[in-house]
Amino acid sequence: MRRFTGSCRFVDNKALALQKERYKPGQPTLGYAGLCQLLTAWRHSTDTKWLSEAPVHPPQQSLKDFERAYAHFFAKRAGFPRSKKKGQSDSFCYPDPTQIKLDQANSRLFVPKLGWLRYRNSREVLGTVKNVTLSQSCGKWFVRLVAVLPQHTSRTCPCCGHVSVDKRWTQSQCVCVECGYENNADLVGAINVLRAGHARIACEVSSIALPAAGTHRSDSGAAQCRA
Ligand SMILES: [Zn+2]
Repeated sequence: MRRFTGSCRFVDNKALALQKERYKPGQPTLGYAGLCQLLTAWRHSTDTKWLSEAPVHPPQQSLKDFERAYAHFFAKRAGFPRSKKKGQSDSFCYPDPTQIKLDQANSRLFVPKLGWLRYRNSREVLGTVKNVTLSQSCGKWFVRLVAVLPQHTSRTCPCCGHVSVDKRWTQSQCVCVECGYENNADLVGAINVLRAGHARIACEVSSIALPAAGTHRSDSGAAQCRA
């Protein structure tokens, strides 16, 4: 897992260095598709062949997050992306729900290249798992609950970002006084919660819910809790 985290960090920092290089002579920035093509090349290059030992989706997700952070910078919504250092926000994300299996009854989780991992359940997972982030803190590994503050989620316009302070938004239907956007109040709340969750994941400040404990691979290939 440390190696997978390192792969994501390496790819992220390489993408940042590359974009900086291209920025100076005024070359257009590379989009997500272009960065993914480079990732494939790096995975096949003799110098960086170790990247192919990690699953492909987590570094792809890192590139997607990086591209979003870079776009936010140019749109003046965020500062310039920083290079990542070892030990800071050590995490990687499996974004494809078809590759993830969660067996809550037996407290185990399946992800590519790691197999079944046992975890200590601290909170029941409701709904369908859409992605899984594994993060490391103080030698322990944790799995994905992203907590979103509910403040303003029902009062913010998903279209223009205006926060309604008056009562122009009725219980069932929202109408933005700024841009005229109109939608069901529950749907507006859901859109805002989802966006806030994605933003937190992108910033890698997601809070932690399921302490997975340190794991090691057994001879059968399945991972087990050490403690
Ligand atoms: Zn609006």
